[in-house]
Amino acid sequence: MMRLTVLGSNGTYPTPGRPASGYLVDDGDTVLMLDCGPGTFPALLARGEIPDAIVVTHRHGDHCLDLLSLFNYLRFDRADVRGLPLYAPDGVYRRLADFAGAGDEHAFHRAFDHRTVAPGDRFEVGGIAVGLGAVAHPVPAVCVGLTAGGRRLLYSGDTGPGGDVAVMASGADLLLCEATHQGPVSGDRYPYHLYASEAGQVAASAGVGRLVLTHLGPTLDPAVSIAEAAAVFNGPVAHAEPGMEVDV
Ligand SMILES: [Zn+2]
Repeated sequence: MMRLTVLGSNGTYPTPGRPASGYLVDDGDTVLMLDCGPGTFPALLARGEIPDAIVVTHRHGDHCLDLLSLFNYLRFDRADVRGLPLYAPDGVYRRLADFAGAGDEHAFHRAFDHRTVAPGDRFEVGGIAVGLGAVAHPVPAVCVGLTAGGRRLLYSGDTGPGGDVAVMASGADLLLCEATHQGPVSGDRYPYHLYASEAGQVAASAGVGRLVLTHLGPTLDPAVSIAEAAAVFNGPVAHAEPGMEVDV
């Protein structure tokens, strides 16, 4: 089995009760955290669990800033947790360490066991197999494919059209796909995020079992995004509501 729990899903910034990007994936034995955006640390704390590892898709603040809160928690109140595996593309760890003022012997480097990752990398966290793919985003970034117990989930991270999301999502049981924008795709569109209809197209072309939309602009009505994606994808479509749990 594999279960996805949404800690937060707001695109670009958190709003009251609605953290930015952060998810837990649990195979019944291992808990993997995907992204750690602002507001997700308190949501994690509310659940009373520390993940076995964290994968951060890229360095934009809405996907990683609560690692600083998690660091303070580990440093001051969880002496039992050291070397939490943190997988992130180039630039994430160094920037956060700089912000924490972490010199060579700093506690930051004991709290986390950092590994720099890139598209094409594969590794395992407990019984969860992780594969990373390329995305269309203006900083080093990845999408994340997870396989456990014969079930498969693909998380897009942030991306525009292109990259590996559609290929890696092929036949997946669940596609957790960013859908930052709504409405008709405009000619001068921002190339590094998707419209809800495009997320639906990716889901349809990949033949996934179900689609969960995430990273919506905080002012958008999720029901509209669901309708736009459902117009092009025949399977079940949902919005990643904070607190939602889905069996993959
Ligand atoms: Zn981003």
